[in-house]
Amino acid sequence: MTGTIFNIQRFSVNDGPGIRTTVFLKGCPLSCVWCHNPESQSGQPELMLLENRCIRCGACTAHCPQHAIELTDRVVTDRTLCRCCGACLEFCPAAARDIVGRSITVEAVLQEIERDRPFYQQSGGGVTLSGGEPLVQAEFAIRLLQECQERGIHTTLDTCGYAEWKIIDKIRPFVDLFLYDVKIMDDIRHINAVGASNRLILQNLTRLAHLQQNIIVRVPIIPGYTDDCENLASICSFIRGLPYAVSMDILPYHPIAAEKYHRLGRKYTLRDSLTVDDEKMMHIKSFIEQYEIMVNIGG
Ligand code: SF4
Ligand code: SF4
Repeated sequence: MTGTIFNIQRFSVNDGPGIRTTVFLKGCPLSCVWCHNPESQSGQPELMLLENRCIRCGACTAHCPQHAIELTDRVVTDRTLCRCCGACLEFCPAAARDIVGRSITVEAVLQEIERDRPFYQQSGGGVTLSGGEPLVQAEFAIRLLQECQERGIHTTLDTCGYAEWKIIDKIRPFVDLFLYDVKIMDDIRHINAVGASNRLILQNLTRLAHLQQNIIVRVPIIPGYTDDCENLASICSFIRGLPYAVSMDILPYHPIAAEKYHRLGRKYTLRDSLTVDDEKMMHIKSFIEQYEIMVNIGG
């Protein structure tokens, strides 16, 4: 069985307990305006161009079988023609071109995971599936987590929760910890910022809590989108109303994504200058603690 991934990150410390290997799967049903992994949104491999490296030699134009590349005052790739064949990468002397996303078997991912087993044992770590949204490639994700559990490796699923319940119910036995994103409680605001309703997400979270799954709710703190008192209070009330206690992680916005959008030939609609400082995160943490919810500031 194969899946499409865009990264395997070893020694990860922000994606669950201990030292972890995080496998990033491609494809996401949401399109958050602040997404810091825009390369994860499409389920297909994509071409990335690091324009600041390009020396305008023209070698790529000559070797593209699709005739998708034009050299003017800069190198321009027509992404509607590009088939992500990778031919241009081989001839670029500046390593300015890259394909993000590759097909990989479950066995090959497991080989990578096994390399770090001693670190999992020492630190109480394990494997985390992230993305993108891992549930978009549900069968691949299930098989991978099942194999990890059978090998005694702790499993974490980092999910936006936007999936049919039958899929979540199927993967649930193989997940030791859910990192479950909750972003905006007002549904209209959610649709505008994320591209879909939050109803299914909240329903699935409630059902998981009824089943006493181990869950940490993760809230990204995005200025102007998720960081207002009304939204945070609403999230806290919802969490307090769940039938099983869950803790929270709050994740500060990082403006690291702008360059990635540029490399993918896409527009970044948020201001590059948005930041969330430590003081603000501490303030939000105190605010949430008033609801008697255990909360940590994530990385
Ligand atoms: S990846 Fe292939 S199709 Fe796309 S620009 Fe490069 S050579 Fe052309
Ligand atoms: S081969 Fe690389 S350096 Fe040369 S024009 Fe193409 S992208 Fe630029």
